[in-house]
Amino acid sequence: MTLNVHAFLPRSQANGPGVRAVVWVQGCSLRCPGCFNPETHSHAPRELVAVTALAERLLADVAHLEGVSISGGEPLEQAEALLALLRRLRAGSSLSVLLFSGHTLAEIEAHPLGPAILACTDVLVAGRYDPGQHLGHGLRGSANQRVHLLSDRYRPEEVDDTPVAEVILGTDGSITASGIAAFPVG
Ligand code: SF4
Repeated sequence: MTLNVHAFLPRSQANGPGVRAVVWVQGCSLRCPGCFNPETHSHAPRELVAVTALAERLLADVAHLEGVSISGGEPLEQAEALLALLRRLRAGSSLSVLLFSGHTLAEIEAHPLGPAILACTDVLVAGRYDPGQHLGHGLRGSANQRVHLLSDRYRPEEVDDTPVAEVILGTDGSITASGIAAFPVG
């Protein structure tokens, strides 16, 4: 089983509490106006990664990670592979899981695999992006989105304290920007 991946960041401090690996999945049908990541919309294969290999990579780095954040794209559009990945992480580690989705909690609960995915998730940031309600802080891109603490792993202030954005300078000279956009896009 493979996951169509848009990008992977092995260490981030702007995508949830603590140091986290981030997986941006490829493909989203929701088309929120002003989406800050439109290059993730296409469902064409970008990087098809075996779920087992991705889980192994993440589990090999547990000593340096607080958790894993899954973003997109829309993770629920690859629900089967997402669930397989989260179950492997849950079974093999105490890594926390933070899931960004354009769907609301009720929509995810109604998805056939939604309850199982939610059972493997500590924090859910849910809802479409609305540029008219743009936020420049925290994990939410817009004020209509909701943060759901699905386990007792974190207190609300720990989630709120996530830096708004970060710039990572690679040893190869690469520059990676991560976190929510400071201003509406589009
Ligand atoms: S759900 Fe996310 S990736 Fe999809 S259109 Fe909305 S903001 Fe963009």
